[in-house]
Amino acid sequence: MAPPRLTVIGGGFAGLTAAISAAESGAAVTLYEAHRTLGGRARTADAPYRTNEGAHALYNRGPHWPWLKQRGLLPPLATLPPLEATRMRFLHHGTLHRLPPLGMVTTLRRHRTAPVDQDFLSWASSKVGEPTARAAAHYVGVSTFHHDPGSLSAAFVQERLRRSTNLPAEAHYVAGGWGTLIDGMARHARDLGVRIETGARVETLPEDTPVIVATHLGSARALLKDDRLRWSSARAALLDLAIRTRRGDPFVVSGLDFPGWIERFTAPDPSLAPKGEQLLQGHFGIAPDEPRAAGIARAERLLDAGFPNWRERTTWRRESLSTGRTGAVDLPGTTWRDRPAIDRGHGVYLAGDQVAAPGLLSEVSFTSALEAVTLALAGGPRPPAHTHAHGASTRRTDQAAAPSGTRSPDRTSAQ
Ligand SMILES: Cc1cc2nc3c(=O)[nH]c(=O)nc-3n(C[C@H](O)[C@H](O)[C@H](O)COP(=O)(O)OP(=O)(O)OC[C@H]3O[C@@H](n4cnc5c(N)ncnc54)[C@H](O)[C@@H]3O)c2cc1C
Repeated sequence: MAPPRLTVIGGGFAGLTAAISAAESGAAVTLYEAHRTLGGRARTADAPYRTNEGAHALYNRGPHWPWLKQRGLLPPLATLPPLEATRMRFLHHGTLHRLPPLGMVTTLRRHRTAPVDQDFLSWASSKVGEPTARAAAHYVGVSTFHHDPGSLSAAFVQERLRRSTNLPAEAHYVAGGWGTLIDGMARHARDLGVRIETGARVETLPEDTPVIVATHLGSARALLKDDRLRWSSARAALLDLAIRTRRGDPFVVSGLDFPGWIERFTAPDPSLAPKGEQLLQGHFGIAPDEPRAAGIARAERLLDAGFPNWRERTTWRRESLSTGRTGAVDLPGTTWRDRPAIDRGHGVYLAGDQVAAPGLLSEVSFTSALEAVTLALAGGPRPPAHTHAHGASTRRTDQAAAPSGTRSPDRTSAQ
């Protein structure tokens, strides 16, 4: 019997996860990626400054970790020296602190669950008082990228507070950047027989095979012509900076007066910048009506507090605006179950970080990809929507280049 066929659209973390998982189940998989390079939001820029698209960490309590490990796909990790681990700082009431306020982590962490229907700030205020609750909400800017995490569902924010304050720390650093992870997954997919076409933007869905649309939700909305494919996300100013090395610089400065996070990625992985320089990446949630400059001004407040003479030490700098690219956020009264469903009917399935699957950031892409494969392979051949079945229609996009250069264009969800 001929193996079941499957089309995957999108060669980011979700698409590659889906392709590997389906090929392991015996499917004949074709994956189309619009860009010349695979990886999507998990791409890493070429040297000399090997930036990810914003600060990226791989969380080891996520479901992707054991899956990658079992397949030998867990990439080499960069180790944070113990001294650097002590160099975490918090900007609170305008000054730098070594520890967050009492109760911000300890008291709030003790609650295993928080209500879905209430916003985090009012729930947390009832436990630790409003000032500490506000500091905690701002801290969770690290993994929500949101300008006002306190306004999101308490359950959603509490889960992220717990995950980002677990000890030992969950965050791990892929040596050489997330591109290393993607390269390994792509190699493995090809070894399993997956046909990967890059520079191939799909313009109409194939009608002869089940299809997993593993693109950003905005692209899926356009491809499926389905305006219901929407979910809330964040808007953030991103700042990438290289500065000359100075002993004693912090590893992280976290904003507690406002949501913001700046991390020195060369602390665990000096290979990310030329010798004698340090690579910093930061993100600052901004409100829908705020300009990017407002986020960058907040970034500079963290830099002024934590990195003496950073202006004079700067050797390279890049700013961008990230709109709707940092995954789903859940408003009060909603959970991941309310997001756009994976099964769209007629053999079409969604995978990505804004669809109905649990987890933190890329874990949502991962979990939805596995679920989409299970459903697609159980669903059998695609029921014909039209009288004449045909394959995916693609447009060659070989000229499409990954973001590079010293100043990237603003990145929006329409990729
Ligand atoms: C600033 C920032 C920081 C982040 N930090 C973290 C972090 O610390 N930890 C973490 O786990 N996650 C983090 N994330 C989230 C993580 O990057 C994403 O969740 C993950 O990379 C999404 O993968 P994906 O495959 O679902 O989507 P994408 O990476 O967007 O991949 C979709 C792919 O589909 C392609 N495509 C689109 N339309 C078409 C079409 N019509 N035809 C063919 N191909 C198409 C695109 O080119 C793209 O390559 C961060 C994201 C950002 C932006």
